[in-house]
Amino acid sequence: MPRVGIVGGGQLGRMLALGGAPLDIRCTVLDPSPDACATQVAPSILGAYDDPTALATLAGVSDVVTYEFENVPVDALRSLEGTIRVAPHPDALETAQDRLAEKTLFERVGLPTAPFAHVDSLDELVTALERIGAPAVLKTRRLGYDGKGQVVVRDPVLAEDAWRSLGEVPSILEGVVDFDRELSIVAVRGGDGDTRVYPLARNEHRGGILRVTRAPAPGVLPATSEVAERLVRSVMADLGYVGVIAIELFQVGEGLLGNELAPRVHNSAHWTIEGAETSQFENHLRAVAGLPLGPIEALGHSAMVNLVGSTPDPASVAAIPGAHLHLYGKQPRPGRKLGHVTVRADDEATLERGLLQVEGLVDDANPE
Ligand code: AMP
Repeated sequence: MPRVGIVGGGQLGRMLALGGAPLDIRCTVLDPSPDACATQVAPSILGAYDDPTALATLAGVSDVVTYEFENVPVDALRSLEGTIRVAPHPDALETAQDRLAEKTLFERVGLPTAPFAHVDSLDELVTALERIGAPAVLKTRRLGYDGKGQVVVRDPVLAEDAWRSLGEVPSILEGVVDFDRELSIVAVRGGDGDTRVYPLARNEHRGGILRVTRAPAPGVLPATSEVAERLVRSVMADLGYVGVIAIELFQVGEGLLGNELAPRVHNSAHWTIEGAETSQFENHLRAVAGLPLGPIEALGHSAMVNLVGSTPDPASVAAIPGAHLHLYGKQPRPGRKLGHVTVRADDEATLERGLLQVEGLVDDANPE
């Protein structure tokens, strides 16, 4: 069976390795930390993401290389091309690493975004604030995730503070979107162009970190889902994409705005492990390994709760009907994703009851 090298050994690499095991897809992870949590379930290579020796070793034990971490240096992946296939293509990663390129891609495929301007200097920030208005969000173009690398500028007089607080690096300024909901659309595309789109998910964030996902997203019109599906298909076709992709969206009325692109398996689709016919992890591996894709239909209704900073008593979670506990084997640290719980139910009322029980345990475990 295919051997897949994964650059990055965090929880996404761990769940990829676990998702591949039933198909005997052998995953090897590359990570600079000996404690990376995927190393508990998969063979690992210790090394920096751009260490040529470590990358060559990974390529030597793999038939295809993929990545689970968005900040892998693109040139490191490019250096592998010619030796081994890399999927998704490093061009997709390059686009996703730059908020400006990402938004330009969204515009190209007809996905509207919040008003934005690129900001390379304090002067440009001041001009952008005049155009977009305050409050607005200043985001670094690179290396931002989970709400990091961004700051809300509430008043133009605070422009200099904001510019300095992010380190005076190339950034974009975005208008604040008064959204009704945050949604995400996750899809998978094979090398033959076969594309399958998971149902839209609805996400709630706190402190910039995803806390709860419900899928299929309640209260969304079929027409909205159809638009999201069409857009993610266009993005994948535009990029010649192979693997799982996620697009984070803001819903305003029945309109959708594109916020962010993740060229990898995504936290808002962890529910697919129990809640869909084929999980995002298995489908990503199927796609990159050249196997036919699995069906993506939801099995009833699911909700996923992230365990951030601390974890609840496992026995209490296990006692909740329909609840599935996933612990990532990581050392607790404030703000760190340590695991998640997915509740699956046949109807929404039962789902909400189970979710309430889980949230009770998680709130106890995660005082904020
Ligand atoms: P991001 O790192 O861009 O995914 O942002 C993290 C979270 O911050 C998002 O999921 C939103 O909850 C919030 N956020 C980011 N950009 C905006 C915006 N332009 N308007 C309103 N909220 C935002």
